[in-house]
Amino acid sequence: MSFVRLPESVVSCRNLVGGEWVSPAGASAQEVRSPYTGTLIGRVPLTPASGVAQAVEAAKAAAPGWRATPLRERTQFLQRFRALLETHLERLAHLAASESGKTVAEGRAGLLKGIEVCDFALSLQNLDSGAHLEVSRGVTCEYRREPLGVVAGITPFNFPAMVPLWLFPIAVTVGNAFILKPSEKVPLTATALGELMVEAGYPPGVFSVVHGAKPAVDALLEHPDVKALAFVGSSPVARHVYVEGSRHGKRVLALGGAKNHLIVVPDADPELTPQAVVDSFTGCAGQRCMAASVMLAVGDVQPLVDDILRRASRLEAGPGMGALIDRGAVDRLETAIARAQADGARVLLDGRGKRPAGEAYANGHWLGPTVLDHVRPDMEAARRELFGPVLSIVRVPTLSAALAVENASPYGNAASIFTTNGAVAQSVVEGARAGMVGVNVGVPVPREPFSFGGTGESKFGHGDITGPSSLDFWSQLKKVTRKWSARTDGSWMS
Ligand code: NAD
Repeated sequence: MSFVRLPESVVSCRNLVGGEWVSPAGASAQEVRSPYTGTLIGRVPLTPASGVAQAVEAAKAAAPGWRATPLRERTQFLQRFRALLETHLERLAHLAASESGKTVAEGRAGLLKGIEVCDFALSLQNLDSGAHLEVSRGVTCEYRREPLGVVAGITPFNFPAMVPLWLFPIAVTVGNAFILKPSEKVPLTATALGELMVEAGYPPGVFSVVHGAKPAVDALLEHPDVKALAFVGSSPVARHVYVEGSRHGKRVLALGGAKNHLIVVPDADPELTPQAVVDSFTGCAGQRCMAASVMLAVGDVQPLVDDILRRASRLEAGPGMGALIDRGAVDRLETAIARAQADGARVLLDGRGKRPAGEAYANGHWLGPTVLDHVRPDMEAARRELFGPVLSIVRVPTLSAALAVENASPYGNAASIFTTNGAVAQSVVEGARAGMVGVNVGVPVPREPFSFGGTGESKFGHGDITGPSSLDFWSQLKKVTRKWSARTDGSWMS
């Protein structure tokens, strides 16, 4: 484990508009402090609607030339960007970790996953050749994939590099001019990604960064020249973005929060299972939308629960596990744990008040691993997203009772079954409501080219955010029907 290197000086973030770094007029500045130490590491402008309009104008000016650039030529820019991501991998991993609280290894993993999405986008030049068919004598039909124009992506704090990289490599490669509005809590990594896009040589305006908070998002939602918008964040904001964006005539895909279920049955592998459960609920200090949150303990799985507790107790709040994003997150989680206790849950492992030794971390935001047992399915700890290293164990008598709890969740991102029995696994694969299901996998994130997306309040809109359906989200298919001569041997269709 390597401790995160904070930036050497305070980074003053600016917007990337028309290929230039600009300070938006009328923007107030917000401080960015590292969740590890509370150190001031950056300042971010909160762009008002006028600054968003400036970026849209520049993107709109770039869009026709970029659209006219053949796919193979557009792909060359992404080749260069991908190479730059690899060159700067360590620096970016530290930057993402220093502002989001994740560990350096987790920052690195997010970038590597982002590089996989670049690979998917790079493959389009060879795979996305459309379709062309003689549909009747002398008549052909053809698909042409065309970009939408100016599009935007709004991203959360917990994956400063990976989530933006889910979006813009694909959107830009299919020919759109893309505007990124990153979380105002993690603007430094987005700025660094913008610098690499400039270095990769993209024409000015093809990729823009606009920093800010709700006013910037609302300006994008309302701007008539923004044609499509992808959002990743919490469910209430995802719903707002989906409703408002749709109301303004845009194509919207909005991924929301989650409450993920791990179903553990008595025949589960005794070595693999407890470690996978612990890794899942403590990784990224529980701040990931695919983290285990509820463990549905089916029947007598007490030896597995004991082992989970043993392994989780060995982890300490601190840089090995990652920090929570801010003081508000610590307060919210501590309150939720106290409420669960008051509602009758047993606190088997209490992370409240735990913090790493050393003056350096005194102003960081910490919570140790926390395990709540005998949580009832109707309790807040079983139903609401907590977003921290807290595992709620719900005891259920049968597999069908476990599936009933999973199915009743308003969310639908991930569910996993831990078993050595194929038939049990298959019944969960078929019966779970979640959009991403794992078998003996604690964090069932699909790898490229399999797409990422949940159901229920974990996703508003149609299709997934990566993979094949993302192509259709960021583009439209033009259908061309051709006939070059009158034919006497044709059918009624000719
Ligand atoms: P958030 O919803 O607070 O913020 C996400 C984005 O929306 C940010 O860019 C922010 O500036 C903007 N925003 C915040 N409040 C807004 C408002 N009222 N109106 C308009 N825009 C607003 O989310 P977060 O705290 O940054 O990220 C954590 C959340 O994201 C968790 O709920 C997590 O589950 C979710 N998440 C989901 C996925 C997924 O794939 N489903 C992936 C990562 C994170």
